[in-house]
Amino acid sequence: MNRKERFARVIERFQQHMPVAETELLYRTPYELLVAVILSAQCTDKRVNMITPALLHRFPTVSDMAGSTPQEVYEYIKSCSYPNNKSKHLVGMARTLLNEFGGIVPSGIEDLMRLPGVGRKTANVIAAVVFNQPALAVDTHVFRVSARLGLTRNARTPLASERQLVQYIPEKLIPIAHHWLILHGRYVCTSRRPKCHLCHLADICPYPDKKIRT
Ligand code: SF4
Repeated sequence: MNRKERFARVIERFQQHMPVAETELLYRTPYELLVAVILSAQCTDKRVNMITPALLHRFPTVSDMAGSTPQEVYEYIKSCSYPNNKSKHLVGMARTLLNEFGGIVPSGIEDLMRLPGVGRKTANVIAAVVFNQPALAVDTHVFRVSARLGLTRNARTPLASERQLVQYIPEKLIPIAHHWLILHGRYVCTSRRPKCHLCHLADICPYPDKKIRT
């Protein structure tokens, strides 16, 4: 099977087995998703979803967050990983949004990456989820699953992985492909002990250590 065929078969399986795939972060507005994605670095979505209701109740708008201090924000996010850095990022992000973008979350990757706490991965998530753009955020799950499935080859960095993936995935499917790979990595193709016996891709997966029995 060549790479084009491999992508086609993997995509077909996901469309069949996971027709709906969305972020597990809870949000109502682009600003709320931005806050949640910044908090989600090195932290589980479950934990972030426990933190954001009180945080966003206290800071419901970009202006509210911009007018606060990292010390105040820290109190609401201290159960998250890296709360010191993230509280600075959240306030900095809101101030930059207000001062440079009129308080509106921008849609461009370059603009998004000008916001404190927003790297390429976060920018891609916002661009894909909020603006339905063909941007593919490569986190640890996407990176691992893509390599095991043979979708990426010798990709040493998330950016190298992203470049290979977007080359073969049809543009309109890129936003959902991000969620397919994340959810598959989170629940089935886990880092240690992947659940290959439950995997709908087992027959076409070339991963040498796959275990088809429990
Ligand atoms: S067969 Fe195993 S290694 Fe391959 S994608 Fe499925 S869970 Fe991952």
